Amino acid sequence: MIPVVALVGRPNVGKSTLFNRLTRTRDALVADFPGLTRDRKYGRAFLAGYEFIVVDTGGIDGTEEGIETKMAEQSLAAIEEADVVLFMTDARAGLTAADQAIAQHLRSRDKVTFVVANKVDGIDGDSACAEFWSLGLGEVYQMAAAQGRGVTNMIDYALTPFAEAMGISKQGEDDEQEEVREYTEEEAEAEQNRLQSLPIKLAIIGKPNVGKSTLTNRILGEERVVVYDAPGTTRDSIYIPMERDGREYILIDTAGVRRRSKVHEMVEKYSVIKTLKAVEDSNVVLLIIDAREGIAEQDLGLLGFALNAGRALVIAVNKWDGIDQEVKDRVKSELDRRLGFIDFARVHFISALHGTGVGHLYESIEEAYDSATRRVSTSMLTRIMQMSQDDHQPPLVNGRRVKLKYAHAGGYNPPIVVVHGNQVSKLPDSYKRYMMNYFRRSLNVVGTPIQIRFHEGA
Ligand code: GDP
Ligand code: GDP
Repeated sequence: MIPVVALVGRPNVGKSTLFNRLTRTRDALVADFPGLTRDRKYGRAFLAGYEFIVVDTGGIDGTEEGIETKMAEQSLAAIEEADVVLFMTDARAGLTAADQAIAQHLRSRDKVTFVVANKVDGIDGDSACAEFWSLGLGEVYQMAAAQGRGVTNMIDYALTPFAEAMGISKQGEDDEQEEVREYTEEEAEAEQNRLQSLPIKLAIIGKPNVGKSTLTNRILGEERVVVYDAPGTTRDSIYIPMERDGREYILIDTAGVRRRSKVHEMVEKYSVIKTLKAVEDSNVVLLIIDAREGIAEQDLGLLGFALNAGRALVIAVNKWDGIDQEVKDRVKSELDRRLGFIDFARVHFISALHGTGVGHLYESIEEAYDSATRRVSTSMLTRIMQMSQDDHQPPLVNGRRVKLKYAHAGGYNPPIVVVHGNQVSKLPDSYKRYMMNYFRRSLNVVGTPIQIRFHEGA
């Protein structure tokens, strides 16, 4: 259960500035995969001890008529699906008609909303904010997103009541850094046994019309148990327990196959947020790409989100039936060109419609999950670390060589390797990447990203 925070407001109030500040640390992995750009709308954040999904809904232009036409459909959908709305205004510009129109919409939606007066740096915040009280949405919170002032407090304030209601507890004390565990060998074994005994939570994701429903139906054996729509539940995926070759799964159905009513057969509206929540809650992501459309920006956005979340990953290129060799060659070379950097993920060419290749997906899904939860001892990790250091010495920093001391497991799914040493915070990214790849190759990790974290001292 991960909270969704939507940033709402007219253009230029500082939404993307805040978005970048919130997602910067969490999306750091993207830097390790040249070729992936960050999604400027959807991101993962960790602040004030809470992990959450943040959505920049984009700006609305105050000159148009009517709130519904002003806000793009996705923005309105994001507001509907958000748990908390941060309504941003510009304390320097003062209250505008567009602010009032947005406020009216938010009041009518009965959403948990916090009014933020941004850009209070260098001005008298209290007097500048006074007029925003008239929006009728309660307290006005002062912020200077560009400086990071008031951001942590705001998130703490906005998410604590929600988290308490949902039974989500704060993690860690440090705002920017997620806590890294140091497992003893016994704890590591217990954790691995625990993960191996649980069903694999598999999220089937992809943009609209790639074949998610068709594949889900095929996987479920066409039995199609229909559950009628209960009001207010469309925003979440359906969780379907299933078994295959003695292995238990929970299929996270983002396409709403099991919900779709037989009578109405209405097509469920695609929701990015629902997809991102499913990714967060999964162990393994099965990303479907449409062979007939090639690789779209949206595919890369979902991929980036899954990688940042550290999820194990299998890629299925669907609709591989009825296309000629030329198209197949083109798709394959496009995959190499645009997804070559995630060479650890298995790619399958399937036809959900005819069932071709679907059975083999399970092998890769299990392999990815096993890779993501496989235990590696401290001595093994330290030995690999040592070898990587011998092959390629860490650089000198201030005339002293960075010294790596030992490595241990810091978590699973994704596997986290924690490296201890002196001056490790000074290691250049290129060296960190080199080490990550060294660990990946040496451990033969397939189907999951791995993370490497550096810890100063012993
Ligand atoms: P958006 O259109 O709502 O996403 O707004 P942006 O994040 O692009 O910000 C619009 C402008 O306001 C940019 O020039 C930012 O640098 C500036 N800005 C954002 N936050 C602050 C702040 O806290 N203080 C000041 N002085 N400027 C800010
Ligand atoms: P979703 O929106 O991702 O759930 O996509 P659907 O499963 O509803 O599929 C969208 C369209 O693509 C439908 O018309 C399907 O019949 C078609 N489709 C799905 N899988 C395949 C496939 O493997 N081959 C072909 N030719 N068409 C497919």
